[in-house]
Amino acid sequence: MTTPTTPPSRNAVTDQVDSSTSRRGYVCVTFDFDALSSWMARGMLTATPRSRGEFAAVAVPRLLHILETRGITATWFVPGHTALTYPELTRELMERGHEVAVHGHAHENVAALEPAEERAVLQRSLDALKEVTGTLPRGFRAPAWDLSDASVDLLVEHGLAYDSSLMGHDYAPYPCRTPDSLDDSGVRWGEPAGLLEIPVAWSLDDFPYLEFLRTPSGLMPGLRDPAEMFANWTADLDYMVRDFEDGVLTVTMHPEVIGRGHRLLALEHWLDEVASRGIEFVTCEQIADLVSSGAELGQYRPV
Ligand SMILES: [Zn+2]
Repeated sequence: MTTPTTPPSRNAVTDQVDSSTSRRGYVCVTFDFDALSSWMARGMLTATPRSRGEFAAVAVPRLLHILETRGITATWFVPGHTALTYPELTRELMERGHEVAVHGHAHENVAALEPAEERAVLQRSLDALKEVTGTLPRGFRAPAWDLSDASVDLLVEHGLAYDSSLMGHDYAPYPCRTPDSLDDSGVRWGEPAGLLEIPVAWSLDDFPYLEFLRTPSGLMPGLRDPAEMFANWTADLDYMVRDFEDGVLTVTMHPEVIGRGHRLLALEHWLDEVASRGIEFVTCEQIADLVSSGAELGQYRPV
């Protein structure tokens, strides 16, 4: 790992955190390599949206270089369609030490599918990744971060070790449950289902901060200063380090979003800032292995 150069903090809350009280924690850097699949899922199939997806493949080598020069391994959630479109790039992710996990086939919203359709889509995506990489992924992330009531059992049945789509915590991986049952009398929680959840959040995703999107259903302005996004992520990290033991912060980026010059420079600063706090970068797969070996991650123990 290169020696990090720490830029001045851009966040007043962050400045108040005393690094002498820091406790160990982890950051999972994850990328959703949607490429053309997310534009397909939106029905945006004209040349320009297709080219926005195509840019993802332009950006991946830049991200690999940034990660490699810092000794960071990331988790790449790859739709089956992306793997079949960019097989060499998908293989390169693994060859350079990163984890490849699955992210639907053509970025389907699985929560909108019938159970038989969802099963077929999952199988097709797993087949595509196996064909391209030679191995089956251990992790799943739902496109658009929405699971159906059938998803958890389906993922367990197909041998997945973890999901990374839910938002029930910010710093602690937790067991996925069989479907909860809720009505106006309250909620009857499901049972642990043998699948780990590595939770995500829209506030820890580059897409809503940075991507400009006009669709028939509305406008997402995006195009914010990436320093603002990363300052928020740093503050989330500093709160975790102060008040949690062995917390896990999982951030999500998209090559076609983060892969532009000013954002890549901001990403480099952020990665170096995280490293300067003694935080360990790990893949989601490593988190799953830590939990299965008995580690209790993300314990709330405020000072
Ligand atoms: Zn996606």
